[in-house]
Amino acid sequence: MYIIGLTGGISSGKTTVANYFNQLFNIDIIDADLIARYVVRIGTPGLEAIAKYFGKKILLSNGNLNRSLLRKIIFFNHESKHWLNQLLHPMILEGIRLELEKAESLYVLLVLPLLVERSLQDMVDRILVIDVDEQVQVKRTIQRDNISEQEVRAIIFSQSDRKRRLSFADDVIKNNNESEKALSYKITALHKKYLTILKKQTPS
Ligand code: ATP
Repeated sequence: MYIIGLTGGISSGKTTVANYFNQLFNIDIIDADLIARYVVRIGTPGLEAIAKYFGKKILLSNGNLNRSLLRKIIFFNHESKHWLNQLLHPMILEGIRLELEKAESLYVLLVLPLLVERSLQDMVDRILVIDVDEQVQVKRTIQRDNISEQEVRAIIFSQSDRKRRLSFADDVIKNNNESEKALSYKITALHKKYLTILKKQTPS
């Protein structure tokens, strides 16, 4: 299966772009963030291990993981972050493997927000970076997640800087508030490019 790794900073538009590929061309999407949530849903060994390590305070009253509290704790505590990564990475990788087995489209878009930060280039055949200006990222994240500008800037700072991320890109979609039409035009062009690459790779 030919895998396009789709990445970009917070609120760059990864989900938006992935949904376009799916809606326009029926491309299967595998989203590492969704899998990361799936492996810690109620009743999973993942959530049990987290509650044991961090204590019951890490659970909401309905039993779900308190993701924003967890995010805050590991932001300041590298040991806990390391522990959590060791626990979740193999589970997430296994989830991705299972999804890839099920995929049926011509190629797959694997949404890996931290592809560059975690050096996951080897998992994919080609890298598509969604690129936005920082002020657009800040504005969108504040609007969507209702968090302060300081918090957004701290998240952006913890991620790979744009220049480094772009240095890994085979393809780039610039998404500074592109209109629906402009975005679908760019995505259509890329889809055609991917089909050409696939055609060249398939022996006739
Ligand atoms: P995250 O890293 O947080 O998962 P993401 O990269 O998947 O985010 P999206 O969720 O697709 O980003 O987009 C972030 C926000 O920006 C959403 O509210 C989305 O509607 C908005 N957005 C994305 N693209 C555009 C665009 N071209 N014009 C206007 N708003 C946009």
